[in-house]
Amino acid sequence: MKSYRVVEQGAERYVVGKIEPYNQKNEMFKRPFWDPRMLDLGERFYRTPVLPKDKPGYRLQDQSLVNASWRLENEFARGVRGGRMGFYDWKWGGLYNYPRVPPGLSITENDPISNACGIKKAGSFFGASMVGICKLDRRWLYSPAYLISSEGGQTVDNDIPDEFKYAIAIAVEMDYEAINCSPAHAASAATGAGYSRMAFTAGLLAQYIRGLGYQAIPCGNDTACSIPIAIDAGLGEIARNGLLITPQFGPRVRLAKVLTDLPLLPDQPIEFGVRDFCMMCEKCAKKCPSQSIPYGIPDDTPHNISNREGVLTWHINAETCLNFWAVNGTDCSNCIRTCPFNKPAGRLHDGVRWGIANTPWLNRLFLWGDDLLGYGRKGDSDEFWKLDT
Ligand code: SF4
Ligand code: SF4
Repeated sequence: MKSYRVVEQGAERYVVGKIEPYNQKNEMFKRPFWDPRMLDLGERFYRTPVLPKDKPGYRLQDQSLVNASWRLENEFARGVRGGRMGFYDWKWGGLYNYPRVPPGLSITENDPISNACGIKKAGSFFGASMVGICKLDRRWLYSPAYLISSEGGQTVDNDIPDEFKYAIAIAVEMDYEAINCSPAHAASAATGAGYSRMAFTAGLLAQYIRGLGYQAIPCGNDTACSIPIAIDAGLGEIARNGLLITPQFGPRVRLAKVLTDLPLLPDQPIEFGVRDFCMMCEKCAKKCPSQSIPYGIPDDTPHNISNREGVLTWHINAETCLNFWAVNGTDCSNCIRTCPFNKPAGRLHDGVRWGIANTPWLNRLFLWGDDLLGYGRKGDSDEFWKLDT
């Protein structure tokens, strides 16, 4: 019983104006490195040590879990800082590529269907929860990109050669119980573990492609906007909270991608009632501690330079959002936690998802049931640490 239908247009269905190249230095996590208005926020968010508190969810154990979760991303990939190293290296490299692939050898059959099957199998083998494929729409590439190093931020060219015609979108699921503790540290740990898994999965998938004799660029949040690529690749729809909603996990995923010249059969974009549901729901907007999520209908008016122009959607105010993260001492996932699409699989939840996709006139009933059963309330951070018996 499918809870989605295929549609002709991917991210293009939200485009209402000219899509100008997006300078990645305008992205919110980069602005504290150059925007005079954001320097103070950067100081508070990036450089002020956060001490543990004697409060559930903010203890040393919680902080240590966050620290450990981010390690692979922070030390061996750095997609948040611009990528291009470690697991996100753009080139075939390393001393010990085993088993060694004979130089110049490549799969000779130009069979995009079988290549796509191989990519999906390998992606899932390396830890992806979802894998989708699309033709690369070059409007979503950052131009230019922005790299952060110990010396500070730096604008760099983002010249992806023309032969990179495909993008593989990867979604990795985040832990449901941990996200439910948002805005306490466990949710931040779920995010960090998601980022580390993104790097691991995308990096290994890129190396698999290189072993076939083709080129691959693995990326986390760097190099291109992940959400429109994921929409084009059939992983989900954009929602009021500014995030991708997937049919299986709702917004409780992190996104990575691999750009490649390997010929692949693209997937078809999908719809499953997200826009209709968001029009009526507004739960994330009500529960956002910084009131950064808009109410009402989508529009194409940016709040500030961090928003993308020419897109009809709900634009999030990333300035007030990041300010809350600085006050909170860790990041926030309330807009994931409270979303009715954020549910693990199960007969009841799968049934509701099918209903939202196929019987939207019952959406108010579904929302009423969601509230009645207490979904989306903040979880107990001490309960998170208890082992299931
Ligand atoms: S992360 Fe938190 S503060 Fe930011 S938009 Fe989501 S709910 Fe609001
Ligand atoms: S909480 Fe409601 S309005 Fe917000 S993204 Fe989820 S479904 Fe849409």
